[in-house]
Amino acid sequence: MNVKMILKNKGGDVISLRPEDTVQTASAILTTNKIGALPVKNSAEKLVGILSERDIVRGLHESGKSCVDLLVQDLMTNNVITCAIEESIEDIQQKMHNGRFRHIPVIEDGKICGVISQGDITHISIEKAQTEANMMRELAIARS
Ligand code: AMP
Repeated sequence: MNVKMILKNKGGDVISLRPEDTVQTASAILTTNKIGALPVKNSAEKLVGILSERDIVRGLHESGKSCVDLLVQDLMTNNVITCAIEESIEDIQQKMHNGRFRHIPVIEDGKICGVISQGDITHISIEKAQTEANMMRELAIARS
């Protein structure tokens, strides 16, 4: 199983932010779309950061109510770890574990073609375990 297969299942729609969007706007987009992090692209469509709900919580802790008026560029992580479409699930799990984050943008031909979350990996792992359990059950029935 690789990144390409996950994106094929979940679709490759990528919602993104601009660095100059407000944190209020970012919070609305995260909430409406029920997602935990958004890639940040500049006007040339280049990936320049990632903003997670954790960054907003940190901003609230550090700036209080005025956090909502901060810009995405004030809170985002600039050094984004990405993955390629042909990378294995194990590779990206390792990257997430090493970097202590739960989201990873996928890059193909220099552009973001999707974002994989820890939730997507959990979903795939559950499906895989269910498929294996069904196969074992069918095998046991066939042998009895
Ligand atoms: P997360 O666990 O993904 O919600 O994010 C935890 C922290 O890691 C936040 O500060 C994010 O901005 C940052 N982060 C999330 N994804 C990445 C990534 N792919 N590369 C670098 N930093 C990230």
